[in-house]
Amino acid sequence: MKPKFLLLLLLLCSTMLAGAQFVNGELYLEINLTASPQLTITPKGKNTNITVAEKDGLISRKFESSITINIMNPETLVHYAILDFTEVVYKAKEDENAVVRDFFAWENSRLKIKKELQHFLPESFTSEEEAKQYALKQGIPIDKIKEVQVLNSTVQIQDPTGNICYMETPLKIHSEAELSFNSDSYAYSGDFILKTVKKKIVLNQFLPLENYLAGVVQNEIGDNAPAEALKAQIVAARTQALNLLLNNKHKADGYDLCNSTHCQVYRGKYLLNEQILQAIYECSPEVLFFNGNLAETTYHSCCGGKTEAADIIWNGKPINYLKGVSCINKVNSYDLSKEKDAREWIDKHLAEGEMSSWERGALSWNKSISYNQLATNAGLTSINRIEIIQRGYSGRITKIKLIGNDTIFLNSEYQIRQVFGNLLSSFFYIEGPYRIAKEIVIIIPQQTIKIKGRGAGHGVGMCQVGALRMARKGTKYNEILLHYYPGTTINKEWIDD
Ligand SMILES: [Zn+2]
Ligand SMILES: [Zn+2]
Repeated sequence: MKPKFLLLLLLLCSTMLAGAQFVNGELYLEINLTASPQLTITPKGKNTNITVAEKDGLISRKFESSITINIMNPETLVHYAILDFTEVVYKAKEDENAVVRDFFAWENSRLKIKKELQHFLPESFTSEEEAKQYALKQGIPIDKIKEVQVLNSTVQIQDPTGNICYMETPLKIHSEAELSFNSDSYAYSGDFILKTVKKKIVLNQFLPLENYLAGVVQNEIGDNAPAEALKAQIVAARTQALNLLLNNKHKADGYDLCNSTHCQVYRGKYLLNEQILQAIYECSPEVLFFNGNLAETTYHSCCGGKTEAADIIWNGKPINYLKGVSCINKVNSYDLSKEKDAREWIDKHLAEGEMSSWERGALSWNKSISYNQLATNAGLTSINRIEIIQRGYSGRITKIKLIGNDTIFLNSEYQIRQVFGNLLSSFFYIEGPYRIAKEIVIIIPQQTIKIKGRGAGHGVGMCQVGALRMARKGTKYNEILLHYYPGTTINKEWIDD
């Protein structure tokens, strides 16, 4: 098959995938809210004025009601090209066979936004299969084939009365009043960028990192948290946001971060909460460093007594400041990696007067699962014996063996939580008789398996319930952070100027 030559079609708008920018010493990001073949924008209240403007063009329109946006010719949006080479540049050059993409890099203890120029061979293909066949014939590795968006991005905008207009993306959208997008029940206001990426309409909120954090933190630790706990959570979330940016996971998606658990959950209600904005103001733009680099500031809801070592949960190298610490003094005399101590500790009453219901719920919980359900979840038809092989520093079970019609190993806390019925954490014990042989805990399962547990989440890094407890007792946010990430330092100087 003869390859099609598409010279000018490969020309990409250099701002197409460019998201983040430094504006007056502040980092602005594009946070993705939705990506779908069609987008409906619905005002939440009355007196709405939605401005939609072409980013580099002259056309601008105002809408006072909901609008629906469709891509005019989605079939022509994507082509397949073969990567020739990639170069890193500071300024985008004009090259008709190149695609410009932004990416984040960490240099000299500073966050930098760099440009990557991907140069392609002149041949371009309408299907991936065609590209593969060509690559095969030419002896080019398959991973050099890249999906490339063509600069052809007219959208049709329709209001409820049937009025239609056409505009060229990317579009800048602005609304002071709150808007919701597609079926999202959350509302957002401010500045948005609309793009067409891979046959979908991608809608991003464009906002300063600090405003994004307000929306993340509110979701993470609640809006009634004491100021010092809020600040500790903000610094941890800010550091994690930069780590996520440096992973460049969404480099090809048309935005910097997504709004789900894949990155950090963001719901954008920041305008509603003065307390969070004040806390952000007081600790901006602090992040945690370890030896001149960004620290890995992972966090979780409730450790249950001790926090967990990162390498036990994620099987990587041990991390100096994520080895696990005591969250409560009373736990110091317990070795939670031992079954007997773990059981005794889980049975202890720990709830305190000021704790909210979610804190209590995370601190102590019961669950049961039927024998049949456990077998099904594990992919077995029968289970004669459960062997607990390993508990981590926090008491979380990290290795379990299920023996029945077959033998199954569950080798991660996450997998164990799933198989035992979506447990809050893998720090639990199975009620009833057990025996220990060569440090392995052996349990013969009953018809109903009763589980008693403590903690919520993976247990690595800062414990939110612990941070709240420390803040209520008057501990400052920097001491909270130092407790959960020992050896790290707070640093404000990370913005590239
Ligand atoms: Zn993501
Ligand atoms: Zn804790």
